[in-house]
Amino acid sequence: MPNMSLKKNPMPEQAPDIRNKNFDEVSLGYTEEQAIDEAKRCLNCKNKPCVGGCPVHIHIPAFIEKVAQGEFEEAYKIITEASSLPAVCGRVCPQESQCEQRCVRGIKGEPVAIGRLERFVADRHNSLAEKKIDKPSPNGHKVAVVGSGPAGLACAGELAKKGYDVTVFEALHLAGGVLVYGIPEFRLPKSIVAEEIEGLRALGVKVETNTVIGKTITIDELQGEYGYEAVFIGSGAGLPKFMGIDGENLRGVYSANEFLTRINLMKAYREDSATPIQRAKKVAVVGGGNVAMDAARCAKRFGAEVYIVYRRGLEELPARREEVEHAKEEGIIFKTLTNPKAILGDDTRSVCGMTCVEMELGEPDASGRRKPIEKPNSEFTLDVDCVIMALGTSPNPLIKSTTEGLETQSWGGILADEMGKTSREGVFAGGDAVTGAATVILAMGAGKTAAKAIDEYIMNK
Ligand code: FAD
Ligand code: SF4
Ligand code: SF4
Repeated sequence: MPNMSLKKNPMPEQAPDIRNKNFDEVSLGYTEEQAIDEAKRCLNCKNKPCVGGCPVHIHIPAFIEKVAQGEFEEAYKIITEASSLPAVCGRVCPQESQCEQRCVRGIKGEPVAIGRLERFVADRHNSLAEKKIDKPSPNGHKVAVVGSGPAGLACAGELAKKGYDVTVFEALHLAGGVLVYGIPEFRLPKSIVAEEIEGLRALGVKVETNTVIGKTITIDELQGEYGYEAVFIGSGAGLPKFMGIDGENLRGVYSANEFLTRINLMKAYREDSATPIQRAKKVAVVGGGNVAMDAARCAKRFGAEVYIVYRRGLEELPARREEVEHAKEEGIIFKTLTNPKAILGDDTRSVCGMTCVEMELGEPDASGRRKPIEKPNSEFTLDVDCVIMALGTSPNPLIKSTTEGLETQSWGGILADEMGKTSREGVFAGGDAVTGAATVILAMGAGKTAAKAIDEYIMNK
C-alpha cells in the first residue's frame, strides 16, 4: 500500500537558534524508518516524469522502490549507475526545480522527497565498514583533468571506470572545487566530499594539488612532454564580479568567494586557523543567490547582525527556497528592493557604512524579470562594518590566455559543443568553465558527457 500522505516526511534538523552559532550540518538526514516511509509515497509511475527532471537521469522510481523494500545497497547501485556524487547531490541539488518539480505527488501535496532519499542511501552506503570497489584493468591510455570540482571529478571517475590512467590537476591545496571552498560545512560537510574523492582514488584516479594549469604546467606541456592523449578542462568560474562603486577596495570588503574560501577551505572559524578572518559586527551581503545566502549564514555564525541587500523583491530572489527559509529562520535580515551606491570608509580606510537607495519594480526586462528602478530621494546609509559582494562569477582567463587555439565565448566561457569538444584538438571542457556559474549536477553531467566523448576520441584515434 503506498503512503498517501500529502506531506514529505520532515527531515530532522538543528534548531535555528542553536545552528546559527555553529558550523555543524543543519539537516540531520532520515532514519531507516523515515526513509522507508517516505519511499512508500512513490507511485512508481509508468512514464517516470521525475527522471526527465534529473540532468543525469537517475532511475528514480527504481531506486526508491529498493528503499521501500529496505534494500539500500541495491538502491545505491541504481543511483551510482548515473551519478558519481550522490551524497553531494542529495544535499545540494536544486531538487525543487528538477526531479521533484516533475513528481506527480507534487500536483496535490508535496512531491516525494527524492533528494533526501538519495542522500539517505548514499550516507548509509558510506557508513558501511567495508565497501567493495572493483578496480578496472588499465587500458594503457592517459588523460589529464584540469580542476577537481564536480565536472572534473565526474569526468575522471567515468574514465577511470573504463581503465584510463587519469590525473586530476588542482590549483588549490585540496580537491573538490566549490564543494570544498564555496559551499559551507553546515550544508555540505567536507568529510562527505573527501569520502567521494577517496572513492575515486580507490578507482585509480591520481590527484595533483597545488598545480595551476597555465602557470605550473601548460596545456601544451600536458599534451606534449607529459604525454596525455586528451585533456578535460573543468576549471569552473571562480573569478568574482564587483559593482564598480566607490569604496570597494576598503578594508572589510570581500568577494563572497574570498570570504567563503577563508571560512570553508582555510577553516577561519576555528580559533587555531592560520588565516583568521576579521569578525565584523554588522555585515551587508550584496546579492540574492545561493552564494549570498551561504555568505550571510556564515557571517551570522560569527555572531554578526547580517543583512542581505538585494535590488529586486523577495519573490525574485534567485536562491533556493530552502536556503532563503533557512537564512530567515537563522535571523538574517532581508533588505530587498535596495541597491548599494557607495561603501563608506573611516580614517583607517575600513568600512564604516554603505549608502543605498530604495528600488521599485518596473516592466519585465530581457530576462523576463521585472526591472528594478531607483526610487527618487530614497538614499539612506546602512550602518555596517563589513560588505560581502555576491554578484556572480566568471571563468578565470588564465587557461585561455596560455592555450593556443582554445576559443572562448564573448563573456569568457570556453567554447565547447554539447559533447564538450573544444576548438583545440584533444581538449574537452565542461561545467561552469563552459556555461558560467550553474549547478553541481549540471557540471557533473557535463563531465560525464565529456568522458564519453574523450573515450570515443582516443579509441578512434
Ligand atoms: P568548480 O566547482 O568551480 O571547480 C573548478 C576547480 O578548478 C576548482 O577547484 C579550481 O580551484 C580549479 N581550477 C581553476 N583553475 C585552475 C587551473 N588553472 N589549474 C588547476 N585547477 C584550476 N550548485 C548547486 O547545485 N547547489 C548549491 O547549493 C550550490 N551552492 C553554491 C554555493 C556557492 C558558494 C557557490 C560558489 C556555488 C554553488 N553552487 C551550487 C554552484 C556549483 O557549486 C557549481 O556550479 C559547480 O561547483 C561547478 O562545478 P565545476 O566542476 O564546473 O567547477
Ligand atoms: Fe534529483 Fe539531483 Fe538526485 Fe537527479 S541528482 S535525482 S536532480 S537530487
Ligand atoms: Fe515516484 Fe514521483 Fe517519480 Fe512518480 S513522479 S515515480 S511518484 S518519484
